[in-house]
Amino acid sequence: MKFRSVKGTRDMLPAEAPAWHAVERTVRRVMQDFHYREIRTPIFELTGLFSRSIGELTDIVSKEMYTFKDRGDESLTLRPEGTAAVLRSFIQESLGEQLPLVKVYYIGPMFRQERPQAGRLRQFHQFGAEALGAPSPALDVEMIALPLRVYQELGLKEFAVKVNSVGCQTCRPKYKELLKTELLKVREQLSEDSQKRIEQNPMRVLDSKEERDQRATAHVPLLKDHLCDDCRRHAAAVASHLDLLGIPFEEDPRLVRGLDYYTKTAFEITSTALGSQDALAGGGRYDLLVEELGGKPTPGVGFAAGMERLLMVLEKNGTTFTDLGPVLYIVAMDEASRRWAFKTAFALRSRGIAVEVDHLERSIKAQMRDANRVQAQHVIVVGERELASGTGRLKNMASGEETEVPLDRLLEG
Ligand code: AMP
Repeated sequence: MKFRSVKGTRDMLPAEAPAWHAVERTVRRVMQDFHYREIRTPIFELTGLFSRSIGELTDIVSKEMYTFKDRGDESLTLRPEGTAAVLRSFIQESLGEQLPLVKVYYIGPMFRQERPQAGRLRQFHQFGAEALGAPSPALDVEMIALPLRVYQELGLKEFAVKVNSVGCQTCRPKYKELLKTELLKVREQLSEDSQKRIEQNPMRVLDSKEERDQRATAHVPLLKDHLCDDCRRHAAAVASHLDLLGIPFEEDPRLVRGLDYYTKTAFEITSTALGSQDALAGGGRYDLLVEELGGKPTPGVGFAAGMERLLMVLEKNGTTFTDLGPVLYIVAMDEASRRWAFKTAFALRSRGIAVEVDHLERSIKAQMRDANRVQAQHVIVVGERELASGTGRLKNMASGEETEVPLDRLLEG
């Protein structure tokens, strides 16, 4: 019986490691530059945390979560996104009492039982950040600037930023009622999914990808024309801060996104290099969520970005990442040389020098080929004669230059 990986999951194979590492390194460096510190939360939480925060009626909670009972009959869920767990930790550990503004980032796997397709996995990886404690629109823009910095560092060029305001407790409920009335008038023309959403989640109907929904809702009133003064001012400040950083963006009054907790700003970054699943990152403000999860009222804003999608764009762009080969490859000719190579490699590695030796008792020629394959920077061939004389020839593989070196020196320093 041969086992295969679970549908919608992938291995990161060794050949892909340099690309993943480059992305992770870039994320960490950019986060450091913006002074965000890493937080790691467990990959599973109590199910209620997600249903409470993301919203019972969202696709994620209603049909995509990996939920199971553990042996103690507790309902647990593999995290479908990062924000809920970060906020749970923020509240539980009273992080807000230690700092007035808590700025954290994460990198890790997320789990959603979606229909697998290009760019849609059931275990995928995200990097993201949250800033908790300030209502400033500048921070909303920081959440757009952070992933863009990562993309720019990695050489990405074709992306679009879409921004919207989804309102707040003051203006959204009134607008929702208005929208509901309008949607009921065109009910028959809507897709089945959208018809179901009219009652509970009418704003989601507006960002439906279905053409019939778009046609039927072309003339319904939009929230941008019904925002309260506070939300309107906030949206204008977000726009002006985006201008300040020279970030081109498009106002998309239909952008809602699939999580219920957003207030005011919602945004999405898409790539023209991707197919139908073109979203690279998304995020927004969630000023009510900390309180909703039992904490003190704390404004917050964050983003999450898909790693696999970013890697897909990098591959499309032809960006390559290579491993650095070992500094030294010791080619050994016989049993005594192999023992010497084994010991010397160990000594050099303990001084932080990457060394490769042969473990397959291959011929000198095959070992030389291997040294080339792994892109060793230097090679030294050691046999009976070298051990007797105590010197060997160290070859610089890039220049071809050879230098005589005392073997003791390799062991010592
Ligand atoms: P979300 O948490 O839904 O806002 O997603 C943020 C980003 O994560 C998206 O823009 C995608 O880049 C990525 N993402 C979300 N769901 C998946 C998935 N099923 N497979 C791969 N990437 C995903």
